[in-house]
This record gives sequence, structure tokens and C-alpha cells, in this order.
Amino acid sequence: MIEDERDLIAALEYNLEREGYQTRSALTGRAGLELAEQEPVPDAVLLDLMLPDISGIEVCRQLRASKRTQQVPVLMLTAKGEEIDRVVGFEVGADDYVVKPFSVRELMLRVKALLRRQQREEADDKEVAFGRLRLDSGGHRAWVDDREAVLTALEFRLLTTLLLRRGRVQTRERLLQDVWGIEADVTTRTVDTHVKRLRQKLGGAGEYIETLRGVGYRFRESAAGTEA
Ligand code: CA
Repeated sequence: MIEDERDLIAALEYNLEREGYQTRSALTGRAGLELAEQEPVPDAVLLDLMLPDISGIEVCRQLRASKRTQQVPVLMLTAKGEEIDRVVGFEVGADDYVVKPFSVRELMLRVKALLRRQQREEADDKEVAFGRLRLDSGGHRAWVDDREAVLTALEFRLLTTLLLRRGRVQTRERLLQDVWGIEADVTTRTVDTHVKRLRQKLGGAGEYIETLRGVGYRFRESAAGTEA
């Protein structure tokens, strides 16, 4: 937990530990980043947006930039009216958010959902190949030809979702719900931003993801005819 409200930390610590989780907490962004690098690597990070030193957005960006923490799910804690910050949060790789004031019960459900999703992905340990693209679901790694494309947890989930549903149109709303795990009230622009970045990272294999203007995205049915 990276959060500067001591009372909130105490309440969350109490409830998380009662559910069997171990917690570590920091009151500033910089202290949180140091803590996240320590063993064991956290299974999830609860990140407040408004911190006394650096913003939660910057913390999230740095978590994503570090090899050790780039796959760790990040749940943002935001205040009402921080809509823009939430959007930016997703753009820098946050996985979900809750709006303050939230009930402890709601937060616990979100944390569990986040960890379940992560575990399901880890359990689904197999390699998938499509044209120039190769994915290792267990290791969360992707290669285009023989070059690794370094993806965030969210980008990897987006790519896997599109690939597994190839040939079928996915609306932005559907992707928001299934990949981000939230109702589609964040704005579908978030999806566009992520797809754009994913395509860039995939280079030549980016063209497997087709845009259906005004509708959403579709992963090509077949890789034939796209070999470079
Ligand atoms: Ca705060």
C-alpha cells in the first residue's frame, strides 16, 4: 500500500491481514517505490493518487518501468473528481481503481478479483503462436519474430484477449469490461490509447489487430498473407 492517510492504511492492513494477506505500507511515493523493490515482489499494489511527494501517476509509471514490478497489478485509490487522473492512470498501466470514499468490503472484492485474474493468467501457462507472434502466457512474455516485445500486464492481457477471440469483433466497451475489469465508465479512449501503444510495441505484428472504425477492434482470423 502506498497511501498517506494513516487511518486508511490501518483499516486496510487490519482487513487484508484478517483475510490472510501480508501487507507492507509506505506513506510517500518514493518510500513506496523502494518498498516495492524489496523481496518478496508484491502480488498487488494499492496506490493512492495524491501523495505528498510524487504523484501516484508517477509512481505507477516507475513501477511499470522496473523489470521487477512491471507485471504487478496496480489498484489505484482515487478521489471523486479525479476522472482525468484515472484516465492517465490507465495510460501509465494501472489495472483497476476505486473511488474514495469506498467501503472496505468493496476494496477487498477488487483486490481479490485482481489477484484471481493474475493467478488465472499464471495458471494458464502455455505458449501460443500466431504468424510472427509468439506468446508465453505463464511468463507474460511476447515475441515478434525473435525479438521480445516488452508489454505491461495490461497490454499483455489486451493482446491475449484479442488473440484468443480472433476473427471476432471486440467493442471498446467489451474490452474495457473484460480486460480492465470495470464497467465502461472510464471512457473508451483508454482502449484506443492502449491498442495504439500495443501495436507500436508489436511492430510488424501490430497489423494483426484491425481497427473497425466506430465499432472496436478485431484480431485477424489468419496470419496468412501478412508475413514480412
Ligand atoms: Ca492521499
